[in-house]
Amino acid sequence: MERPNPCLTCGACCAYYRASFYWAEADDETPGGVPVALTRKLNEHRRVMIGCEGSKPRCIALEGTVGEQVCCTIYERRSSVCREFEASWINGKPNERCDAARIAWGLAPLEPDAWDFPNLPRAA
Ligand code: SF4
Ligand code: SF4
Repeated sequence: MERPNPCLTCGACCAYYRASFYWAEADDETPGGVPVALTRKLNEHRRVMIGCEGSKPRCIALEGTVGEQVCCTIYERRSSVCREFEASWINGKPNERCDAARIAWGLAPLEPDAWDFPNLPRAA
């Protein structure tokens, strides 16, 4: 049986951390960038995704239920901070920030084999 992408049944980091990024990544400056309407100015240099500013962050672009099924509605246009956030073990090592977000949502940290997709062809 094919395993789902673990992030698509998680979303904890998008509802735990503040997703802020260099202001020019927004689409008022960079065509195809982060939709500026989904952001607020954080300071002179940075914007933040709406929903992430308070003590209980949840990014406005996150759709679904954390720990069940989620998606990022701006996946192709998400900021560098989101693109660079690595799920634990996706590149062979844990990420304590991924683990912390999952734990905060009552989810166990990903196991080292979380990204083994048995149905995918493997190099010989
Ligand atoms: S933009 Fe997408 S990936 Fe980034 S925090 Fe929001 S929902 Fe998550
Ligand atoms: S907390 Fe980790 S597993 Fe969950 S969505 Fe974020 S990167 Fe993926």
